[in-house]
Amino acid sequence: MARYRDAVCRLCRREGGKLFLKGDRCFKPSCAIEKRGTNPPGQHGGARRKMLAGYGEQLREKQKVKRIYFVLEKQFRNYFDKARRQKGVTGENLLFMLEKRLDNVVYRSGFSTSRRQARQLVNHGHIEVNGRKVNIPSFQVTVGDTVTVKNKSTKNAHVEGAWQTAAGRGRPIWISPAGRDMSVSIAAAPSRADIDSNINEQLIVELYSK
Ligand code: SF4
Repeated sequence: MARYRDAVCRLCRREGGKLFLKGDRCFKPSCAIEKRGTNPPGQHGGARRKMLAGYGEQLREKQKVKRIYFVLEKQFRNYFDKARRQKGVTGENLLFMLEKRLDNVVYRSGFSTSRRQARQLVNHGHIEVNGRKVNIPSFQVTVGDTVTVKNKSTKNAHVEGAWQTAAGRGRPIWISPAGRDMSVSIAAAPSRADIDSNINEQLIVELYSK
């Protein structure tokens, strides 16, 4: 599968704000947005950011959400097509599917400091759903599922560090602690209020509806 291999901080600068892709560093003064501001990356990045409208604005919003959840174009489009076929508001359905991805749940649960790290944990087999190893980051959790860091992996330095750091970050209300440390259960489906209010999903719907 294709992967983005360039510096991820460039993505934040491209989108003009923090996307929180690098874990701890995003909260420190060494964050590229703190150091360099929101100018776009590249040789002419210092030039004034253009005010976007219409197609440009819709495109940037779609790119931003894709980058927040670390999803490639084709997969993102598939999510949108599924969201459109579901009952309810298409834009919200899209965000709910992205939120219910296993890698996102691992991140939201505080087992990792970023979604990228969460994806690695899933890929490397450190995560169990209902007691069974699941190594597919796009796996969709459902209400009642228990998501756990494998017993053996709880001593992993990255996981332990993330768990300490994320303790102060808090968890969304739809994810509740389950039994032991590094184990959570999906108490409810996510609601729009639990998701980044800085996202305007309607712009994505307009983009794909052209
Ligand atoms: Fe974005 Fe985090 Fe890099 Fe800051 S440190 S620019 S928030 S990825």
